[in-house]
Amino acid sequence: MTSPAPAGDEIVFQRSLRARNYRLTLRRDGVAVATIPLRGSEREARRFVEQHLDWLARARSRQSHKPRGADVWTIGTHVLWRGAPTEIRPAPDALRPSVRLGADTFRVPQLAGDLRPTLESHFLRLAKIELSGRAWELASQTGLGVRQIVVRNQRSRWGSCSASGTISLNWRLIQTPDSVRDYIIHHELVHLQEMNHSPRFWTRVEQSYPAWRDAERWLKQNGSLLGL
Ligand SMILES: [Zn+2]
Repeated sequence: MTSPAPAGDEIVFQRSLRARNYRLTLRRDGVAVATIPLRGSEREARRFVEQHLDWLARARSRQSHKPRGADVWTIGTHVLWRGAPTEIRPAPDALRPSVRLGADTFRVPQLAGDLRPTLESHFLRLAKIELSGRAWELASQTGLGVRQIVVRNQRSRWGSCSASGTISLNWRLIQTPDSVRDYIIHHELVHLQEMNHSPRFWTRVEQSYPAWRDAERWLKQNGSLLGL
């Protein structure tokens, strides 16, 4: 790069088999990612970045002006939990420091400070149990051949389905309403038959989960609450 890049303004070049064009994106962690298409070169990608430095500067400035207060969770913070904004409260009568979210109680190292890392690891643990249980239940109702259900941290997707029959679910679905969770599971199950978003795919979604439009609307309106 010929342009001066201040420390922390890193640009990562990554090749993508699926990308058709050069692309520049800014990740939430502040790292800019330049995508090189299959037949492209890093040299061309660098030129592309050069041409888009203005855009990158604007994107960085927008990102730094975003309120970041919601990133820290303390007693009194409202977080999305099982579909509803829920206040983090100290658990009464607990022997060890614990907080309550609705009907759930979670142990924390201490009540002061940022509770988010601890609570999110509790969420993930619960999600692995509850989401896979629900997914196997719905899979058995549809009779489709699922081989494996994986619950994990996905930065930008709610779920995915591989040709080999593995369904991956974003653990944050434990924070959404049950109807949204069920929709995503149905959506991925339908992908076992249709690995695309063709009209035929949506017809099958409609048959298997008629309320899918409401769930899509919820995701559009609330997805950002989850940091997606
Ligand atoms: Zn899909």
